[in-house]
Amino acid sequence: MAAVRRLVILGATGTVGVQALAILRQAASPLQVVALAAHSSADALGELAAGLGPRAAGAPPCRTYLSSEDQQRAALLEWLRGGDYDICLNAVVGAAGLPYSEAVLAAGCDLALANKESMVLAGGLLSALARQSEARILPVDSEHSAIHQCLAGNPLSAVRRLYLTASGGALRDWSPAQIAQAKPADALAHPNWDMGPRITIDSATMMNKALEILEACHLFQVEADAVQVLVHPQSVVHSMVEFLDGSLLAQLGPPDMAFPIHYALHWPERQPSPLQGFDAELFSQLTFRPPDLERFPALALGWRAAALGGAAGAVLNAADEVAVAAFLDDQLAFPEIAVLVGETLEAAAGMPADHLEQVFAADQWARERVRSVLPTPR
Ligand code: MG
Repeated sequence: MAAVRRLVILGATGTVGVQALAILRQAASPLQVVALAAHSSADALGELAAGLGPRAAGAPPCRTYLSSEDQQRAALLEWLRGGDYDICLNAVVGAAGLPYSEAVLAAGCDLALANKESMVLAGGLLSALARQSEARILPVDSEHSAIHQCLAGNPLSAVRRLYLTASGGALRDWSPAQIAQAKPADALAHPNWDMGPRITIDSATMMNKALEILEACHLFQVEADAVQVLVHPQSVVHSMVEFLDGSLLAQLGPPDMAFPIHYALHWPERQPSPLQGFDAELFSQLTFRPPDLERFPALALGWRAAALGGAAGAVLNAADEVAVAAFLDDQLAFPEIAVLVGETLEAAAGMPADHLEQVFAADQWARERVRSVLPTPR
């Protein structure tokens, strides 16, 4: 029986948070939830805390924080810095998740990271912090979890290449002429994963994969040109690692976030779960092909941002968020998302990201710049 590990869940009422709590209820889990935080759903948060069941004798009650309340957010950050827990699942949505990641790593605690923006915006900063405090960053993103699993025990110096797989999104097989006319409803129809609107549009432009290239460079300390992308419409092979000797390792499974959540929360152990891994039907036809950068130019912005360094990740993410909102609002044509984001990225070359204030300043700058060049609402 593994020792009890004290777990914090940030973003507890969101999809990932709720899935994590479901996993803990199902398995004879060695994890004990010591704190839950949510943005604004006080009632839902209270219910989740109550649903944790009876505590062991002498165990303090589960803490709860509402991060939309300034005082509670400050108290949460301060408590996280105290390090009175073993692992924190950061499932906050958006750039708001970054300060929590910093606090957890500064405390030397393990970070199960479902907040993609943390690594995209400040991957260099956070990786350096983790090295200093000997904390571990455990990715809760299906592709990066796959790479983490494939690497298991191998030094990064043994890696030749990382292959990130991509579903290709809702417009995967559309012609350039069709893509030019794509409407929000077309781009929102994702074939494999059930996700929020921004990430579904990001999947259709392949910007999601561009952000994941940056995430991979920071998480695994590899150069951008060592990261390749493969379109794999079935979303069964979650990513692959090619080693120096030419051998490839892949991680496979049904497209279900419960797998990477379960893995990250229990690492380095493998705990039993009711999840079913193999399905002959699902695994019978797996196809791979290189991405088409002409139809999906947003993908190339990932390698470009990684090469630019500094605050490029923050600019890429923020510019895309505003551009996607404008597309959903019928202010921008689908292909214009990548154009506008690309121009903003180039205009930001050389912006530093040595501390969080600079990161957030770059984020703000990018939002304002995209808004300033948006066509007036039609
Ligand atoms: Mg992913």
